[in-house]
Amino acid sequence: GVGFYQVNQKNGQRHSTATAYLKPCCDRLNLTICTSTQVTSLLWEGNRIVGVEYIQDGGLTNRIKVAREVILCGGAINSPQLLMLSGIGPAEHLKALGIPVIVDLPGVGQNLQDHLLAGVIYECTQPLSLDKANNIGNFLKYLLFKQGPLTSNIAEAGGFVKTRPDLATPDLQFLFAPLYFQNHGFNRREGFYFSLGATLLHPQSRGYISLRSPQPLVQPVIEPNYLASEADCECLLTGVEMSRQLIQASAFNQFRGKEIFPGSGVEKKEDIVDYIRDTVETLYHPVGTCKMGNDSMAVVNSRLQVHGVQGLRVVDASIMPTIVSGNTNAATIMIAEKAADLIVATCQ
Ligand SMILES: Cc1cc2nc3c(=O)[nH]c(=O)nc-3n(C[C@H](O)[C@H](O)[C@H](O)COP(=O)(O)OP(=O)(O)OC[C@H]3O[C@@H](n4cnc5c(N)ncnc54)[C@H](O)[C@@H]3O)c2cc1C
Repeated sequence: GVGFYQVNQKNGQRHSTATAYLKPCCDRLNLTICTSTQVTSLLWEGNRIVGVEYIQDGGLTNRIKVAREVILCGGAINSPQLLMLSGIGPAEHLKALGIPVIVDLPGVGQNLQDHLLAGVIYECTQPLSLDKANNIGNFLKYLLFKQGPLTSNIAEAGGFVKTRPDLATPDLQFLFAPLYFQNHGFNRREGFYFSLGATLLHPQSRGYISLRSPQPLVQPVIEPNYLASEADCECLLTGVEMSRQLIQASAFNQFRGKEIFPGSGVEKKEDIVDYIRDTVETLYHPVGTCKMGNDSMAVVNSRLQVHGVQGLRVVDASIMPTIVSGNTNAATIMIAEKAADLIVATCQ
């Protein structure tokens, strides 16, 4: 389908899970929130996880023991990192870093998938776009009434399409932004523009997360392997071609100016592929590094419990076996909602 996107927004602002779920519960006696705190390892007793060790404010190391289980929700980068630091992961990799292997799970950190966007940008012939929305009038409108252009989620409209009729589900998601959008919005340009981007929904390429060091404060290696598969490139190529076609629709006649990117000189397939490889950007949707399943590369079972370990679940985007056909935030919230039901059921 095609239309305006639904957003997680309240009073003109992005409504995060912290404000929607945590803030209303802050006063509960059975909830303690530790900020500026990094969990550095999981604590073992036999094959059971019984707590976590953490560093607070970059200084003191502390431990917390749990009565029932630990729920790990560090996201697709840090959940596999913490599992590996704690001896759960690919045995050879852990041994090479001198980490004692407690459970050999080769899938930890593997299967990394993400959504990539490649787009086109056109001049807008009317002074309507958001390029100049950043002004005092709009700022006051936002501040006083939580309304106006500054409440925009930028990618306001879009749609899902199949690039081949034989596909079971769409493989491209279009995002229309009424402004110049390139390099995550960091590149600016004087004037008025609009952008249309195609997102590769089901990448064939797989990346991985691995440890650089057994030290928990050292960032892990993130190897996304973007566009390693030619099929991914082909799909985005179709996406850029379709974007160009869509913008030739008569509805754009009164707004369409010069094509800025890829630009009129970029017509041959190999030139468009070069353009895609140069400008493609992540939508920040990493998933899959602690995938759910029963095969040899699975990390958690259908109750999100880590295979071969007692007292430990992973509840975040890392458990998706394959990336969802759309933005990942709502899907991750649904994983957490399902996990809450599973946990409550275990306690009853
Ligand atoms: C810039 C950006 C824009 C995005 N925009 C959208 C969007 O518009 N729509 C959409 O659907 N999705 C969007 N996403 C994706 C969406 O935010 C993620 O899919 C979602 O947040 C994943 O949730 P998660 O719980 O798996 O991980 P996260 O939200 O990353 O949560 C993991 C948490 O664990 C904490 N953590 C990690 N390691 C440790 C540790 N060792 N100790 C203590 N805490 C730790 C982290 O600080 C973090 O708070 C965006 C992501 C980014 C980065």
